[in-house]
Amino acid sequence: MQLTEIAPSADRAAPTWRRLLAEAVRDPAELCELLGLPADFRARVQRQPKFPLLVPRGFVARMKAGDPHDPLLRQVLPLRDEDEAVPGFGADPVGEIGVGPAPGLLHKYVGRALLVTTGACAVHCRYCFRREYPYSETPKSLADWEPALAALAADPTIHEALLSGGDPLARTDDWLAALAARLAAIPHLRRLRVHTRLPIVLPERVDDALLAWLTGTRLAPYVVVHCNHPNELDRATAAALGRLVDAGVPTLNQAVLLAGVNDDADTLAELCERLVDLRVLPYYLSQLDRVAGSAHFEVPEERGRALMAELHARLPGYATPRYVREIPGRPGKTPLA
Ligand SMILES: *Cc1c(COP(=O)(O)O)cnc(C)c1O
Ligand code: SF4
Repeated sequence: MQLTEIAPSADRAAPTWRRLLAEAVRDPAELCELLGLPADFRARVQRQPKFPLLVPRGFVARMKAGDPHDPLLRQVLPLRDEDEAVPGFGADPVGEIGVGPAPGLLHKYVGRALLVTTGACAVHCRYCFRREYPYSETPKSLADWEPALAALAADPTIHEALLSGGDPLARTDDWLAALAARLAAIPHLRRLRVHTRLPIVLPERVDDALLAWLTGTRLAPYVVVHCNHPNELDRATAAALGRLVDAGVPTLNQAVLLAGVNDDADTLAELCERLVDLRVLPYYLSQLDRVAGSAHFEVPEERGRALMAELHARLPGYATPRYVREIPGRPGKTPLA
């Protein structure tokens, strides 16, 4: 079977989310125009960034017009600040380039293996630690995945397959369904976890075709979404998260602590409360990975610890995320609070 791998599609017969992805904003000047950003601010925006701008129009609609400091805009708009070389910020901050047992497979966590399913995403987050990852070396067609599947099948200590990227849900459902079926055929695998920002930035992605393969194998499904600010949670996003939870998929959130986006206690507390209202559990609050071009997003760990103390005082335990960072070479995240 020839599986479609490239998700954006202008074809009228394609699922809604693929058409919306094809129509996403890709030009920084257009984004400034859509939001009516002040002319003096536009001088700080990169016109043709090396890591291109990408943002679905539905996510732009949640930004405040005319506000260059909007917390959603800040996550996606390429600023000239990114060109500044800062010591300690490099291309591979978490030490994962070229470490896996087979192409596309990272096995740095005990009991679980991470599959880099694609380099594509529905949004380009300026602080992303994978912005420098050599995605051209990851397998494309399902046939190219055979060495990774063989490596998983040969290691009975692995109980969980984690689909990552990029964003695995930028892949089409027929491709993902075929991969899920192959994983389910490996007897020692028990869980299938999907790390994705798509239900947040393009909630139309959570459709029947997605839920069918996600809940259609013997593997216990988990979804970890990525939402950093309560303004990201509009009605359509709430409905998408509700569809996941109603389908029996435990859904967790991973946020990144970001200067100028969510580095204050009120914003973080509101984010956590909105998430649990939607039956999504705050899982991690991640310290920024020090990737080149992201220094202007860094929040000092001391400040992060103070924010966590406030969250602990204000929220029930189940609504409080774990504050963690990735340290190269460690087989899991390191708690910071
Ligand atoms: C941390 C992390 C994982 C896996 O870590 P767990 O501790 O098993 O949750 C997978 N993907 C991403 C993007 C991560 O940041
Ligand atoms: S969606 Fe995730 S992988 Fe993609 S750019 Fe954003 S943080 Fe990076």
